[in-house]
Amino acid sequence: AGRELSGTVALVTGASSGIGAATARALAEAGAAVALVARRKERLDALAAELARSGARALALEVDVTDQAQARAAVQRTVGELGSLDVLVNNAGVMLLGPISGAPTEEWDRMIALNLQGLLYTAHAALPHLLAAAERSPRRVADLVNVSSVAGRRARSGAGVYNLTKFGVGAFSESLRQEVTARHVRVSLVEPGAVDTELVSHVRPEVREQSTRTFANVEMLEAEDVADAIRYIVTRPRRMAVNELLVRPTEQE
Ligand code: NDP
Repeated sequence: AGRELSGTVALVTGASSGIGAATARALAEAGAAVALVARRKERLDALAAELARSGARALALEVDVTDQAQARAAVQRTVGELGSLDVLVNNAGVMLLGPISGAPTEEWDRMIALNLQGLLYTAHAALPHLLAAAERSPRRVADLVNVSSVAGRRARSGAGVYNLTKFGVGAFSESLRQEVTARHVRVSLVEPGAVDTELVSHVRPEVREQSTRTFANVEMLEAEDVADAIRYIVTRPRRMAVNELLVRPTEQE
């Protein structure tokens, strides 16, 4: 793979761990300057330093994207300090599994606030810049990648509100795709199966056990596998839009 993203600027949400951190590395390797967005500042600073050592421009932004003003400020600082916005990867998300009946409803609020509202606020703030980049940048195309999940295509018992948020991301992405694609902002949806990250660590212990059992004999995807898929999407020629990419571990049914 080459340096197809040289001269471009990418913003990755949830860049402090897992898929987001791996994606930031992959896009930096492809030549992009990268804004790293999440709440854990030390992690972002460490990643920014690592990327800088390998010659990339990186900006660590301590941001809670569920706060619209913060999401907007992250986009403004990215454009102000790195010069433009060509690629947005809406990756930050939380998966709080468990039955709907009797669920602690604050878990629903957290998933809706981050997986839906955070993604919406960031997309909304970024769109004028993506549209401008598609018109004026040397590449004449921009990318908005939304990270959904297999859970955004198949609902199952024990994942109801996570399913709700990820199905929602799919619907939003398709609608936005139709709205902006003729203006060369490509909207893509990535739907990974099980990836070995911190995601499952936030699930309540009694529920987590069951989900760990389901994947006990499955060789999970690595964050780098999904980052590779995202890199593929955003490095296609201007004429080619990867609308949707579903990737499961080979052993996942
Ligand atoms: P991680 O838990 O490792 O990463 C989640 C990221 O989101 C962290 O960087 C976290 O950083 C960030 N984040 C959480 N809350 C906020 C917030 N309020 N504002 C900004 N950033 C926030 O999990 P993954 O890498 O696995 O998850 C990334 C995406 O991939 C999610 O959307 C998830 O639904 C999706 N996915 C994951 C799968 C898997 O099996 N792992 C499968 C399918 C989809 P911090 O806490 O520092 O803010």
